[in-house]
Amino acid sequence: MTTAKLFYDAFKTKSGKTITIGTGTGTKWKRNPADKQINQELVDQIVSTINLGFNHIDTAQVYNTHEEVGAALKKSGIAREDLWITDKYCPGRSDETPTDIIDLALEQFGTSYIDLFLIHHPFFDEDNSVTLEQAWTELIQAKKDGKVREIGVSNFASVHLEKLFAISEKYGKEYVPRVNQIEFHPFLQNQSKDIVKYCHDHNILVEAYSPLAPLSRVGNNNPLIQYLKPLEEKYGKTASQILLRYTLQKQILPITTSSQQSRMKQSLNIYDFELNDAEINEIDTIGQANPYRAFFKQYDHVL
Ligand code: NDP
Repeated sequence: MTTAKLFYDAFKTKSGKTITIGTGTGTKWKRNPADKQINQELVDQIVSTINLGFNHIDTAQVYNTHEEVGAALKKSGIAREDLWITDKYCPGRSDETPTDIIDLALEQFGTSYIDLFLIHHPFFDEDNSVTLEQAWTELIQAKKDGKVREIGVSNFASVHLEKLFAISEKYGKEYVPRVNQIEFHPFLQNQSKDIVKYCHDHNILVEAYSPLAPLSRVGNNNPLIQYLKPLEEKYGKTASQILLRYTLQKQILPITTSSQQSRMKQSLNIYDFELNDAEINEIDTIGQANPYRAFFKQYDHVL
């Protein structure tokens, strides 16, 4: 059986392990900043996903879940270098700079480095105290200082990425954006115009957030769910496993989450089957006929 896993083999934990699909700590897990209590359910969920075999944790300044990640690292007992932790700086949230957020995250994680650090979105208002140029330059510096291993972005269109490549030019090719984490599922196959092809052409790993949106966010009776039913039987897989497999076969690495351990376990069990071209094409076609965007709707006109 061929697997689509190799496309992200360049991304390894510090100890050299290929990263798994990501376990997310945003969306349903986001903690209100006013809530000072650490979310023990999330700590336990992260520990349980690590025990299942996930080695890739996704968090962000704006999720307010750094402390849960730190507590889970301690509780799991896993060696830091066997994990891949992604974090993100959110423009316009406060006067804090990316460097401030990286330093705070390192303290909250209780670690000396972050594997991947992203700029959460490209929408820097004129009154932001930090500009896109400053933010990217700070990420480059953090990589030089060894505080982060890789740098990248999230929700960026090609026009925004072009700006970063221009800044990166004077620093060398190891300081270019390595990852773009975007919303991706059959109902949103390009968050912005031709973004997946642009990233693939520029050697940028595309990560999918909300890969299960057709199941979890769009009504129960949508045509894709109907189409997936016989495939579930054919492959002995659930609809969510088929959607994650579809994502991998698009050379895109999914970030998913669930409060149910059985669902997280299923999510890792997607390497022993392969959708054929006709099935992928049909999922594409149904998806294109039913567009749906869960995030950044207000930016539709920009993206
Ligand atoms: P998913 O598409 O994986 O959706 C997860 C949701 O789907 C959960 O609420 C879960 O509910 C439900 N679910 C899981 N399995 C199934 C199933 N088999 N059938 C039906 N529903 C199911 O991803 P999210 O949208 O939650 O995003 C994942 C992560 O991506 C976030 O936590 C965050 O880390 C990141 N993210 C990044 C963004 C960015 O701007 N960079 C934006 C959004 C997310 P249940 O608990 O009931 O199983």
